[in-house]
Amino acid sequence: MTPLRFGVDVGGTRLKFAAVRDGRVICRHVEPTPRAGVAALVTTLAGGCGTLASAVGESPTSIGLGVAGVLSDDGARVLQSPNMPWLDGAPLAELLATALAVPVRAENDANCIGWGEARAGAGEGARRVACLALGTGLGGALVLDGWLLRGGRGRGGELGHLIVQADGPACGCGGRGCAEQFASQTGIARMAAETGWVGGLGLTPAALVPALLDAARSGDAIAAGITDRVGVVLGTLGARLDALFGLDRLIIAGGLCAGLDLFAPAALRAAAALGDRPLPPLVAAALGGDGGPVGAAMLFDAPQVAATGVIAEAAVSGRVDA
Ligand SMILES: [Zn+2]
Repeated sequence: MTPLRFGVDVGGTRLKFAAVRDGRVICRHVEPTPRAGVAALVTTLAGGCGTLASAVGESPTSIGLGVAGVLSDDGARVLQSPNMPWLDGAPLAELLATALAVPVRAENDANCIGWGEARAGAGEGARRVACLALGTGLGGALVLDGWLLRGGRGRGGELGHLIVQADGPACGCGGRGCAEQFASQTGIARMAAETGWVGGLGLTPAALVPALLDAARSGDAIAAGITDRVGVVLGTLGARLDALFGLDRLIIAGGLCAGLDLFAPAALRAAAALGDRPLPPLVAAALGGDGGPVGAAMLFDAPQVAATGVIAEAAVSGRVDA
């Protein structure tokens, strides 16, 4: 039987656990993220993995962590986590590996979503895939010829910080006019405020987005203008990424992929306006909220992602063809 792997999406508010076999989720578990520090997080991660192991009646052969933050080149340390600053510098994978005596790998959460979708979701059968995860921010991942592009200093695949408007709004990364400032919950909320869209008054960005998508579909011109802008940004990004990598597919993940029908026409128009650039097929993510945990679990199929653990890691056979 193929190995049972656990994946955990380590977010600022929730820990999403999944038991995964052959890229399919066989059991899930969710807990709130403790805010009392690294030791409390490791204890909660170990406890959650124990709960999952009891539920499926089997211990995992490995555990992958998708962490909201920037990781060191070997994945061993969390260099910087905007939502969990107490994690900065923590050797999270090693601490959990020691606690459970199971090999553990860690990777950026958006990279995990892209890896999961590429291997077991909307990218199955494609060799060159980019994934844009539109949530609070705009996470990105590139999977090229079977490799998850990690880059150096944890900076690879940060597609949300490609600049689409040089004089655009300031971004949390220190730049201006990043794609994230438009194609994200935060960006949509900002555009809604700027354009005076009254449908979003008093709503959080997370609640505003579905209301805005509904309004755009119902013919609200201001709402439709905002979804059009998101589409233009996605088309511009997609055309540029295609020029670099010759993509087979561009996967749109995260909560905003529900608006892909609204974004796609503007994306195609924007790509055509850039000198008839081809736009790779835009497809909605197939794994939904499971993408992060599934990709984390499948990090043990990513030959270039380092593992840490007290048990000798099973041999990983070279290059993986997606
Ligand atoms: Zn930025």
